[in-house]
Amino acid sequence: MKEIQKLFPSMDGNDFQREELLSYFKTILTKIDELKDPNKLTLGEMPEYTADYYNRVIQNADVPVRGVAMEEVIQKLLKLVEGHRYVNRNYVANAAPLPNIASIIGNLVMVLVNGNNLWDVEGQAAATAEIEVTSMLSKLIGYDESISAGYTTWGGQGAVFNSLRLAIARYAPFSNQHGVPRNLYCFCSELSHYSLYKSVEATGIGVENMIRVKANADHSMNLEDLKEKMEHVIAKGGVPLYVLATMGTTDTFGIDDLVGIKRIAEELERTYGINSIYIHADSAMGGMYTFFNDYDFESNPLRLEENVLEVLKSYQQKFKHIKLADSMVFDFHKLGQTPYTTSLFLIKNRENLKYVDLDAAETPYVGNRGYGSYHTGYTLECSRMGSALAIYASLLAFGIEGYQELLANYIRVNIAFRETLTKEISNVVVTNEVSPITTFRFYPEETKWNDEWNGHLTLEDIMEINQFNDEFAEVIGAERDTVFFGNTKKQRLVEAANSNKRIAVYAHKFFAISPYTTIEEVDRYVGFLKEHLEFFLKTRRRENIIIRS
Ligand SMILES: *Cc1c(COP(=O)(O)O)cnc(C)c1O
Repeated sequence: MKEIQKLFPSMDGNDFQREELLSYFKTILTKIDELKDPNKLTLGEMPEYTADYYNRVIQNADVPVRGVAMEEVIQKLLKLVEGHRYVNRNYVANAAPLPNIASIIGNLVMVLVNGNNLWDVEGQAAATAEIEVTSMLSKLIGYDESISAGYTTWGGQGAVFNSLRLAIARYAPFSNQHGVPRNLYCFCSELSHYSLYKSVEATGIGVENMIRVKANADHSMNLEDLKEKMEHVIAKGGVPLYVLATMGTTDTFGIDDLVGIKRIAEELERTYGINSIYIHADSAMGGMYTFFNDYDFESNPLRLEENVLEVLKSYQQKFKHIKLADSMVFDFHKLGQTPYTTSLFLIKNRENLKYVDLDAAETPYVGNRGYGSYHTGYTLECSRMGSALAIYASLLAFGIEGYQELLANYIRVNIAFRETLTKEISNVVVTNEVSPITTFRFYPEETKWNDEWNGHLTLEDIMEINQFNDEFAEVIGAERDTVFFGNTKKQRLVEAANSNKRIAVYAHKFFAISPYTTIEEVDRYVGFLKEHLEFFLKTRRRENIIIRS
C-alpha cells in the first residue's frame, strides 16, 4: 500500500509531499506556457486530424497493466494539450471562456477538498459558497434573497431543463406519480437555444408541443405572435405551461421583452382563468449584463465612452426586469470567464422546490439527519461538483466593477469592429444590433440585405448567397490558426419572394470574448477578412469563367 499511498496528497500536510505536488503543477504550467504564442490560436502544433484519427485512438487505447510514473502521466497529458485552441486575442468565434485566475484557484480548492455539493455534511465549503453566491446574485438581479434559491447545475441547458421540470411539477404536482399530462405547451423564440427542444423531448412533453414564436428584426421574440399562438393553444384545450424568454440569443444576442411577456401571460391568466404560466429567463448568454443593473449612467464612474454607454443603458432597461421571471441562469463559463461547468440556476421562490424535492424516505443515506442542514435532494444530479467555489472566487476577485469593465470592453470592441469592417469592405453587411457579438454576411457583388430580410429575394437567390458565405467560412476556417471567426447557419429566418417557407440565412460571427481582444486588435481582424475575401473572390471568379467557357 505504501506505493499506492504515494499516488495521493499527504494525510498530515508534510513538506515533502506538498513540494512534490507543487513540482508537478509547476511542470504543467511551464510546459503549457512554453506552447503559448500570441500570434497563433493553438498551443503548439495542431495534430493531423486525418479521417482515421479517432479510429486510431480507439485501436491504441488500453489501460496499462502497471501504472506509469507521474512524469509520464504528465507527458501524456501535455501531448493531449498540443494543438489545443487557446482563447487568446485570435479567438473570436464563440462564447468560450479563458478561465480567470481566481476561478482556477477556486476550482483547485474544490478539487483538493472534493466536497460533494449534494449535502453540506459532505461538502461544507461548496454548500456555503453556493448559498453565498445565490444570495449575492439574487440581490444583484432583484430577487428577494430570503425567498430565492439557487444551485449550480449542468450548464445553461441544465437550467432550462430544471426550470421546465419545476413548471411541470408546479402545474401538476401529481405528474411525479402519474406522468406528464398530454396537453402542456411550451413557447420559445424561433431563435432560442436548442436546450428547450431537448428538454421537451426528455420530459415527455414532446417536440410537437413546443411552439416556436417568430422573431423581430432585433432578434427578440415577437409578442403578437406569442399571444396569438398561446390563445390558439388555449382555444383547442391546451395549457400554456411555460415560456422561455431568451436574454441574449446565442448567435445574435437578441433580448426578449420580459415585461411584455409577463403582461401577456397575466392577461391570459385573467381572461381564461388559467394557472400561472412559468417564465424562465434563458440568460445563459446575456445574464452577466445584469451587472449593470445599478450602474449610474449619469456619473459614469468607469468613464465609459458615449457609444458604449448607450448600448449598456439599453441593456439596463431590459435586464432590470429579469426579476419578473420565475427563474434565470448565470452561465459564468460564457461571458463570466470561468472554467466549465459553472452555471448557477436561480429560482425566484424556493417554495417551488417542494414539488420536486425527494421524499425523505427515498434518500436513506444523506440528508434529513440531526446534523447538516443543506441537502439538495431537488437537483437532478445526485453527487454534484462544487463549482460555486469558482464562481465565488471570481465574484470576489472582479467585484461588480471588474465585471463591468470586462463586459463593457466586449461592447467597445464590437463597435470598433463594425465600423472598421463596413468601412474597409463594401460587399458586407452587419446583421445584428451592437452587442458582444457581431454577425455579418458577405455578398458576391453588392449587398442585398434590405431586399433579403424584406422578403424580396427568391429562394434561389438567398440560397446562393448562403452558399457563398458557407464557402468563405470554409476558407477562413482553414486559416483559423491566425484568427478564428465563428459562423452560424441560422442567424435569422427570412421570407422568400417565391416560397412560403421561411429560410435561414448564414452569417459569420465575431465574438469578442477574450480579455485580450481589445480595440488595438480590430484592424488585424478586419485585415484578415479583407485579404482572404479578395483572394476568395478572385479564385471564385476564375472558377466561374472556367465553368462557363
Ligand atoms: C449557451 C446557451 C445555452 C446552453 O448553455 P450551456 O451552458 O452550454 O449548457 C442555453 N441557452 C442559451 C441562450 C445559450 O446561449
